[in-house]
Amino acid sequence: MSQMITVLGATGSIGKSTLDVLARHPDNYQVFALTANTQVDSMLQLCLVHRPQYAVMVDEKSAQQLAKKMADNGCAVEVLAGVDALCQVASAPEVDQVMAAIVGAAGLLPTLAAAKSGKRVLLANKEALVMSGQLFMEAIKENNAMLLPIDSEHNAIFQSLPVNFKEDINARKQVRNILLTASGGPFRGWDLQQLRNVTPAQAVKHPNWSMGQKISVDSASLMNKGLELIEACWLFEVQAKQIDILVHPESIIHSMVQYVDGSVMAQMGNPDMRTPIAYGLAWPQRMDSGVASLDFLTHSQLNFEAPDHSVFPALNLSRQAFEEGGTAAAILNAANEVAVAAFLREQIPFTAITDLIDAALNHCKFESADSIEVILAADASARRFVQGKITA
Ligand code: NDP
Repeated sequence: MSQMITVLGATGSIGKSTLDVLARHPDNYQVFALTANTQVDSMLQLCLVHRPQYAVMVDEKSAQQLAKKMADNGCAVEVLAGVDALCQVASAPEVDQVMAAIVGAAGLLPTLAAAKSGKRVLLANKEALVMSGQLFMEAIKENNAMLLPIDSEHNAIFQSLPVNFKEDINARKQVRNILLTASGGPFRGWDLQQLRNVTPAQAVKHPNWSMGQKISVDSASLMNKGLELIEACWLFEVQAKQIDILVHPESIIHSMVQYVDGSVMAQMGNPDMRTPIAYGLAWPQRMDSGVASLDFLTHSQLNFEAPDHSVFPALNLSRQAFEEGGTAAAILNAANEVAVAAFLREQIPFTAITDLIDAALNHCKFESADSIEVILAADASARRFVQGKITA
């Protein structure tokens, strides 16, 4: 029987890759809803091709424009607006799987709504889990939802860990550590002086992956790896000290698990997000993703190095926030989102991103993250603090 899918963040890089994979298997999947924020024309094109039942634009004006364009094109998709509509299409009883691919904290409420209604959640939106780790994982367990990691590294770790790793104490004892790989981004090997003058155009030019702007800047600052470290701790129920970060510039190995007998299990493949997306959609089966076979002869050298913490402080800030617990990770994430947006508007230099995160972690009060209200309040206070510093 065919599965009903909601794609949150359909107009983005992950959203479009997801729709590409779904379109290869029309007998197995139907699109229930697509969502976006403001990109009306892109959403119109996606609706004309994929014919969902619902299209949600968070921005009201964009929703009105889309509804008009749909009517002009004779397209019978129902258009909804606002955050409540996002949660509605993420939790509708008809839906089997939800691709969570909104960027940033804006994805938290609909992703949580999917978890609370027992869906299979395909998680690309790492910020949602970073902000609300404990609450989110409890929602998954209490509602018999299923959480499958789409981030390529976490998908690789999921594929490389023993089955039942989380539940089985013997399986846990077999694992020595997790090796979370990082490409190092466009500024690998640069020094602090060089980093001070980089432009947004340089920062979004990732050497291996084609991604949205925010995650591209996060990759350049290594904050993406810091967020991924926190994401991995929640997903696999491990401590931060059980995860080592290894720079691997080719992005062919997507991460590894080292076992007590010295074996290392690695998941490899071309750097194309359709592989983890297809894996998440089809698990425990596998299906064609459209990704070409890996040609080892053109990738005959795989290199590894340690991250340079003196130039890229984001990793240690993230470890510190995770170990602090409570709302610290939500504060780290919010500070990063505001600082990255300011960097992209050319209001602050690249190196100010991690300076502002550090300042927010020192200034904002950490609370126990036991309700969504507390988490959203911490997020808002960090945003106010960082915005104030930028405009001061
Ligand atoms: P993009 O910027 O390409 O797309 C973001 C999507 O979110 C768009 O559909 C956008 O709509 C929507 N959106 C933006 N703001 C809001 C908002 N306030 N409310 C509702 N929807 C909103 O991002 P990516 O696809 O690159 O990344 C998405 C997520 O996946 C991120 O969390 C990222 O970290 C993660 N990820 C991405 C990878 C990649 O290869 N791209 C790899 C691994 C993880 P609109 O177009 O209308 O603005």
